[in-house]
Amino acid sequence: MNIIEIESKHTSGLYGKQPIIFVRGQGASLFDIDGIEYIDCNSGHGVANLGHAHPKVAAAIADQATKLITLFETFYNDQRAALMDKMGNLVPGLDRVFFCNSGTESNEAAIKFARLSTGRSQIVAAMRGFHGRTLGALSATHNKKYREGFEPLVPGFSHVPFNNIEALEKAITEETAAFLVEVVQGEGGVYPADVAYMQAARRICDEKGALLIVDEVQSGFGRTGKLFAVQHTGVQPDMLCCAKSLAGGVPMGAVLFAPTVKNLAPGAHGSTFGGNPLSCAAAVAALTAMEEEDLPGQAAAKGEYLMKKLRELDAPLIREVRGLGLMIGIELKQKVMPYIRALQDKKILALNAGLTTIRLLPPLVITYEQLDRVVEAIGEVLNNDSAAE
Ligand SMILES: *Cc1c(COP(=O)(O)O)cnc(C)c1O
Repeated sequence: MNIIEIESKHTSGLYGKQPIIFVRGQGASLFDIDGIEYIDCNSGHGVANLGHAHPKVAAAIADQATKLITLFETFYNDQRAALMDKMGNLVPGLDRVFFCNSGTESNEAAIKFARLSTGRSQIVAAMRGFHGRTLGALSATHNKKYREGFEPLVPGFSHVPFNNIEALEKAITEETAAFLVEVVQGEGGVYPADVAYMQAARRICDEKGALLIVDEVQSGFGRTGKLFAVQHTGVQPDMLCCAKSLAGGVPMGAVLFAPTVKNLAPGAHGSTFGGNPLSCAAAVAALTAMEEEDLPGQAAAKGEYLMKKLRELDAPLIREVRGLGLMIGIELKQKVMPYIRALQDKKILALNAGLTTIRLLPPLVITYEQLDRVVEAIGEVLNNDSAAE
């Protein structure tokens, strides 16, 4: 049996798979088993901000693997301390951190912390929001597509229209533990929150004694042109959830939190793999490389360049190009999957966000020459009717 046959025989069936076998990556390029190069505008859904196989991350993993891979957080560790020192100083005021292994787990933790901290049960989240697939985070996720078949979900969750201050005023009450929101909605279609909306969210949460949780799992670590997207808004959240590119591709999630988060006593929450030395070493190397290479600056400059080029494309199919930094959505007047397949035939990998938006999340180290090739390919597929068949 070949690779595709083996996977097809044993896979869960949960993934719509494409018949390409990738075996290697470098920077913004992925190489298939025949050595054919693709430009990766998926980054594993926003994981590979630093590019694939970053040498400093690879070296840190290899080195740490020979020393200590696992250690529960009941004991101290040099790599974990180094990472806490870095993470606790990324956002002024958010000087404490809980480590876990994924984005959904970071949201699970934040939801539990909000309930513990306030003694309240209600969580308000936004329509079109995506927070993960475990039952708590799924309860905060709005789209029926993810929820159907899994009800009843966790009680106490409600959803408000995104970027609507009036609706938020009504929804957040003295029973609300937290408002959980993405600063740029990713899966939901690449919609940035208005600055005024985030500021109003902060004010309303303060008035009602609720906590503000930002889900930066996709928008974090330079993606939008700042280290975290919330830094575009001047708003100080109580908790910031992150994962995806935190450890340069090694699975890791974290919640950064402020002193307003209380009552976290030993045993109230935890994670077997959370804060393991291997992931911590990878994350220290990744965060150091992000600083050294000014990843946020790269995303800001390249995002502006790419957005301008895309807006200049003379393609009647495009309804809108929107986004922040290198988190970009191209909304079409029709369904996007045929165009994403056509791009794949041209060796460009892109994502969808909902039915009608092409989402570009390239590694932030992508070159300008690669960006030009991406724009050229998008122009070709959108102006070629055969793609729509
Ligand atoms: C990807 C994502 C998640 C879930 O992360 P996993 O690591 O897949 O559990 C949560 N929130 C947002 C905004 C995401 O983009």
